[in-house]
Amino acid sequence: MSDFPENATLGQMPESAILARIFPKLPHSDFTIVGPGDDCAVMRAPDSRFVITTDMMVQGPDFRLEWSTPHQLGIKAAATNLADVAAMGAVPTGLVVSIAAPPETTVSFLEAIAEGFHDACLELAPGCGVVGGDLSVSTVVVISVSAFGDLEGREPLLRSSAQPGDVVAVSGRLGLAGLGLEALFAGTQDIHPLLRSAQLAPWPPISQGKAAAVAGARAAMDVSDSLVMDASRIARASNVVIELDEAVLDGLASRLAIEVGVDAAHARQAMLFGGEDHALLVTFPSNQPLPPGFDALGVVRARVIGESPHVSMGGAAVAENGWNPYQNWNGELS
Ligand SMILES: [Mg+2]
Repeated sequence: MSDFPENATLGQMPESAILARIFPKLPHSDFTIVGPGDDCAVMRAPDSRFVITTDMMVQGPDFRLEWSTPHQLGIKAAATNLADVAAMGAVPTGLVVSIAAPPETTVSFLEAIAEGFHDACLELAPGCGVVGGDLSVSTVVVISVSAFGDLEGREPLLRSSAQPGDVVAVSGRLGLAGLGLEALFAGTQDIHPLLRSAQLAPWPPISQGKAAAVAGARAAMDVSDSLVMDASRIARASNVVIELDEAVLDGLASRLAIEVGVDAAHARQAMLFGGEDHALLVTFPSNQPLPPGFDALGVVRARVIGESPHVSMGGAAVAENGWNPYQNWNGELS
């Protein structure tokens, strides 16, 4: 057993003792051949190709310790990376996690982050686990994750593969995380639990990435920055126009407004321009039913002469507003 007290800080313990406390909390990957303990993990990549992505969260611009528990930080760091793997139509297989934190941080803080990773992997991406990582010191908490995934023999879902005539569909929620962030910034006392959890511990539909690919999806993204901003990226990559169905959006916004207690215009704004929901935005050929859990939001059409790739709604181009860490950070750290 450890000679260090439960409330020991990182600065009080050697790295080996810290890792001995954290390792048992981490989720195991079914794809591991050689696990933690060597210079690298060795993993199976059954497809022979693998997808890889990375996403970093920095205290201040990306999270605040007065808002997030370490368990929520673990969930969010895992979920954002898993969503990128899912958006390629792949199945997540492993995560590598690097954390820097001030020396006065308790080891139990890192254990709670590890438990967040555990819960997210277990529920969202069974079989995926943490296969390696690194610890360092810093003046703020930084959590950097790389994620791997297996394509299982399917072609990756690219942003550039949308075709005129495709149906644009979404799986997962839109608008909740953005409304949650607004409420946190506003200091709202009784934030609706759906908004709080969507912002602080997102729970994206990871298995829907594979489901979309199996169902013949063409292009996909996870909605990390905003529906309009990310749909615009598909439009540009595919050289098409994405037309969102205003009546559908208004219907969804009305339901969201009632659900979480905001007015409909506000809900609609959050659905179009709010970030961090990590819903899956997918285009499907129109000649087949959408897979379960996907709702049609619009269509892909060819550009007309003189028209740039863009997102339109109700016959007008929609401005590309959304999440931008460089614009959204006011310099505060807590
Ligand atoms: Mg993404």
